[in-house]
Amino acid sequence: MTTSLGGYSVVMPEGHVIHRLAARLSAVFGGDAVSVDSPQGLFSVEASRLDGATLMGAEAVGKHLFIEFDVPDPRWIHIHLGLIGRLRIEHQSPVRGQIRLRISDGETEALLSGPQWCRSVTTAQRDDVISSSGPDPLREDADPDRGFDRVTRSGKTIAALLMDQRIAAGVGNIFRAEVLFRHRLRPSTPGREIDRRTWQIIWDDLVQIMRSGFLTGRIDTVRDEHLPEAQGRAARRDRHGGEVYVYRRAGQECLVCGSTVRSAVLEGRNMYWCPRCQRRKRAVGPSTGAATVTATQPARFTPSGVHS
Ligand SMILES: [Zn+2]
Repeated sequence: MTTSLGGYSVVMPEGHVIHRLAARLSAVFGGDAVSVDSPQGLFSVEASRLDGATLMGAEAVGKHLFIEFDVPDPRWIHIHLGLIGRLRIEHQSPVRGQIRLRISDGETEALLSGPQWCRSVTTAQRDDVISSSGPDPLREDADPDRGFDRVTRSGKTIAALLMDQRIAAGVGNIFRAEVLFRHRLRPSTPGREIDRRTWQIIWDDLVQIMRSGFLTGRIDTVRDEHLPEAQGRAARRDRHGGEVYVYRRAGQECLVCGSTVRSAVLEGRNMYWCPRCQRRKRAVGPSTGAATVTATQPARFTPSGVHS
C-alpha cells in the first residue's frame, strides 16, 4: 500500500513479501548456528542472548514475521516492517546504514533496518499475535469464516474491509483493488451486503493471486487475454512490477472496457476501480473457478529487493 509520509510516498509490503522473507530466512539459515547482533545498538541486549544459537526457522502471518531460535523463551524475534522497514538478505558486506538486526552465517546476512517493531517474544506471545490476526490467505491454517464474520456485520465498504488485517491478513492496497476488479465487484458495496458465496470467491482468488505473488515476487493479476502480448500494448512500467488491472492506473484506459480507471481516497488510502466494469454486489461463477494466474517467472527467491 502507498501512503504519504512526510511528503514522499512509501510502500508497505503486502503479505506475500513477508512470507517470501520467512521462506528465504528458513532456507538460508534454518538449522544453522548464526551470529546475531545489532550494529545500530537498539536491539543489542536481545541480540546478545541469541548470538551463536541455532536459527530454527521463520514464519509469517499477515505482515508479521517471526524468527525462532533454539534458546529458552523468549525464543522468537517478532518483526513488523511497517511503512519504511526493510529486510535484506544478501552476501556479507561491510555495514551500511542503521542496521537494527543482523543475522549472519559468515557468508550470507540478513539486515533489518527501520522496522516498526523488532522485539524478542515468547512462544505464548507469538501465539497471541497469530490468534489475534485475521485469517491469512497464504497460511494453510487460515479460516475464511473468521473474516466473513466481520464482513457480514459491517456497514463499511468491502474495499475498506479488505484492508482490515483482522479480516484478511496480509492483503494490502494492490491485492484488494485487483481482487475486486477481477470479480467486477463494486468497491462501495457494504460488507453486510456481501453474501457468503461472494466472500468465498474473493477468498479463493486472494489465495491464488497471493500465492502467485509469493512464488514470483511480483503481483500479476491480469488474465492471459489481457496481457501485453495478447492486447498488443506495452508492458507496465512501474516500480511495483507486475501486470494489474486498476492499481495505480487512474486516468488510464481500463484493459477490459476502455473506460477511464478512477481513484479516490478511502480511509486514507488510494482506491482504484473501473466504474463501468465494477457494478456487481455478487461475484459470478463457481467459487473455485477463479481465473488462473500465470506465473510469468519461475519460482525462486531473489537474494534481496523483494519489496513490492
Ligand atoms: Zn472497465
